[in-house]
Amino acid sequence: MKLDFLTLYIVILLNSITVAIIWGAIAYRYRNFAAARVWLAGCVLTTVGGCVLALQGNEGSFVLAVAGNGFVIYGFCLFWVGVRVFYGLPGGWKLSAIVTGGSLLLLVLLFDSLQGRNLVYAGGQSVPLVLAAYHLLRWKRHDLGAWIAASAMIVGIVGHAIESGLNIGLMMGHVDHDFYTMIESYALLCVIFSGVVWNFGFAVMSIERLREELAALAIKDELTGVANRRHFLAVLEAEDKRSRRSNRPFSLLLIDIDHFKGINDSKGHAFGDRILRHFAQIADESIRSGDVLFRIGGDEFAILLPETTAREAEKVAAALVVAVRNRSASQEGSDGFTISVGVAEWSADMSLIAGDLTAQADEALYRAKAKGRNGYAIAGLSVLLEAEGAHINVVRLSEASARR
Ligand code: GH3
Ligand code: MG
Repeated sequence: MKLDFLTLYIVILLNSITVAIIWGAIAYRYRNFAAARVWLAGCVLTTVGGCVLALQGNEGSFVLAVAGNGFVIYGFCLFWVGVRVFYGLPGGWKLSAIVTGGSLLLLVLLFDSLQGRNLVYAGGQSVPLVLAAYHLLRWKRHDLGAWIAASAMIVGIVGHAIESGLNIGLMMGHVDHDFYTMIESYALLCVIFSGVVWNFGFAVMSIERLREELAALAIKDELTGVANRRHFLAVLEAEDKRSRRSNRPFSLLLIDIDHFKGINDSKGHAFGDRILRHFAQIADESIRSGDVLFRIGGDEFAILLPETTAREAEKVAAALVVAVRNRSASQEGSDGFTISVGVAEWSADMSLIAGDLTAQADEALYRAKAKGRNGYAIAGLSVLLEAEGAHINVVRLSEASARR
């Protein structure tokens, strides 16, 4: 049974308009989501191109055929460019212009042959589909949306390949004309179906991207950009489980800026905010790559040090106290500030990890404050190590360790 081409063209147009409305709404609602704008442009161009091609009639007007194919092929290229934009890859525009220009040149050269025109049409659309499917499978193999889009594109490419094969067969006289038109209509149906499904795949990719962005926002402290208290509790739980399995300790530093209320009162809340950001920057630059910095309250921060004993954590605390003292005055308008740090090490007998470990680090922090600030203390040790300088710290650290 042969499918009616006029009906198929109407279905193509309705599908393209539907998908364009969806991308239009997404692009309007999420202005920063550049890929949606490119995909919207792809849908609009293919819709316009489809209308122009439908107008050319059975005889095929030269101008309408060239213009219609130009719109459709460039529109297909934009689906590929949108994939590049989605994954943060630059470029693609120049190659799109070359593919479209090259296809139109071939179309002009082969215009007298209906089969030649069909081959250019299928080939021009298949090149960007192959490129897009390649990028989708290469860059995001584990993304369900990318799989859906790439699979649909492969269906579209197969549809075009069948159509091209039939056209070549017809040109060589191996294929009967009735058989050709029947199969061609089904091949076109494959391409229509794949277009809707790959756009659905792009939509799934977009939802996943927005979900990732929301999840990242939910664990980020807005002011300083470091991880927030919610993430601190989750990471602490995860680290506790890991240490129970591996029986290797980890340590926690609780940090509080000294006399922060005074800074706020004398220089204003906005200046206080700048100090908080400056501290986060100094701390972030001081820690190793596996360590995590959190802002857990007003001027209170925490650093989680995986696979680290309290003895090793002391060195980190000492270095941080010195770094803050030395670097904090570099902030414009600041006379510098200091911090106090409480150090605690995880142990397997802690039943409520978030409560027990933070309570111990808090107790140490309280002692560091009580002994005059600008230093650190270790949970379970009564000694306060004032961070006068790295050398003094190292000497005092070994004394402290000997007394444990
Ligand atoms: P101490 O040396 O004992 O820590 O004294 P402190 O003055 O630093 O006292 P504390 O740590 O209790 O003060 C924290 C202050 O931080 C209280 C609050 O007004 C201020 N604060 C909390 N959140 C923010 C914030 O987001 N921005 C600013 N600028 N200030 C904040
Ligand atoms: Mg404070």
